[in-house]
Amino acid sequence: MAETAAPGALDQLKRELEGIADIERAAAVLGWDQQTQMPPHGAAGRAESLAALRAIAHERLTSAKLGALLQQAQEAVSGLDRDSDDYNLVRVIRRDYDRGTRVPVELVAERARTAARANSVWKAARRDNDFAAFAPWLQRNIDLSRRLAEHLGYAERPFDALIGLREPGLTTAAVQAIFATLRPALIDLMQRIAPLAATVDDAPLHRVFDEPTQERLCRDAVARFGYDFSRGRLDRTAHPFETSFGRQDVRITTRFSEHFLPMALMGTMHEAGHGLYEQGVGESLDRSLLDHGVSSGVHESQSRLWENYVGRGLPFWRFYYPVVRAAFPEALGDIDVDAFYRAINKVQPSLIRVEADEVTYCLHIMLRFELEIALFDGELRVQDAPEAWNAAMQSYLGLTAPTDSDGILQDVHWASGLGGFQGYALGNIIAAQLWEAVHRAFPDLDEQLGSGQFAGLLGWLREHVHRHGRKFDPADLIQRATGAPLTAEPYLRYLRAKFGAIYAL
Ligand code: ZN
Repeated sequence: MAETAAPGALDQLKRELEGIADIERAAAVLGWDQQTQMPPHGAAGRAESLAALRAIAHERLTSAKLGALLQQAQEAVSGLDRDSDDYNLVRVIRRDYDRGTRVPVELVAERARTAARANSVWKAARRDNDFAAFAPWLQRNIDLSRRLAEHLGYAERPFDALIGLREPGLTTAAVQAIFATLRPALIDLMQRIAPLAATVDDAPLHRVFDEPTQERLCRDAVARFGYDFSRGRLDRTAHPFETSFGRQDVRITTRFSEHFLPMALMGTMHEAGHGLYEQGVGESLDRSLLDHGVSSGVHESQSRLWENYVGRGLPFWRFYYPVVRAAFPEALGDIDVDAFYRAINKVQPSLIRVEADEVTYCLHIMLRFELEIALFDGELRVQDAPEAWNAAMQSYLGLTAPTDSDGILQDVHWASGLGGFQGYALGNIIAAQLWEAVHRAFPDLDEQLGSGQFAGLLGWLREHVHRHGRKFDPADLIQRATGAPLTAEPYLRYLRAKFGAIYAL
């Protein structure tokens, strides 16, 4: 062995973190298998295996040994450059450690158990349109979320603790301020488009598109973006997702509808956006626990950027539509690129979040965000939540869900806890900031995309976002990449320009 000197605390810390990363990756493989391959009767045994691995990882991350190593490593890196990998490794792991040790292991286990049971209750409740069956489980998750927040601690209000778990450094008030800017602007845009709805026809997207051809196009499109199939794969699931076992093995899934072309095509671009982020994490961060996306919002900015800013953009379709039309000559033979572009960008208030267009999507998120804060703060009782949902739906989108299944029961999130929705809206907002920054770097970006060149865009994202993994906090990362703090203005500029043109506003 070349290494003869006794390793210092920092090296020992890194070896320890590599061991934890390996366990987490093994758990992630089990999770991927559970959703893509596992036969139904494997579920109970799989839950035990997953719980066992997660418990080992948690114990090792919160051990006295790791605490002591961190203490020593902190001294070792104190003189280092604040931008260095080592300085930030210790900084971020210190926060993970503090957070992990503040939460009693009983609470961790109870949250996991409750989530697993609430998930199956939620599935049945949605199927049967039976909110009352789910209500006690929602109440239990609210109580558990409150307990979690008290253990984690917070600066201003308890809900901050839940947001901080997914968006390090962000507060409830900061999200509310952004939403306050967004809300009237989005509603105004939606209302100006409404009388013109009929000018965009998306019926051609509902013709017949055979699945094997769709799959070929999905693979082709995301490979062109730069998704590396030698370090990834595409599988089928009911609920698409991306998962990473380190930068060399980043997998995505999709689902198909023979009667709706965008479901698989745009869905695959979305997950590939997440995948490109994880494949792009810097090699120096591999197995460090920093080798993942930094927050839900930044992660979602990557999926939205490829799905919407690229994948629902006119430059891309000027390049790619001939390929898609040649693949589906019967369905699309009479549709030109402009009609196709308009069809995939049709704006229409709808009941279901995951089917919402770019203009109305964030309204769905704000509605949920407000409701879950009211539930969490005790201002709204669980039994009154469906009525509050319907009232908010009416005021935001002018719609009333005919059933709770298409209303408050439509999302799985509240089966596992509160505080997870804002990331989707933040993703749209951050993507717009990045999109403006890339355009400043490449004034000819539209021409690049219009000729099928994605390397410039991907290279910029790699350099300014992907390679950093969890090394910089989201606010810091956004400032470094775009030169500005988190702000909704670029998103509103983008929407007004794009949909102003489509609907001739
Ligand atoms: Zn996503």
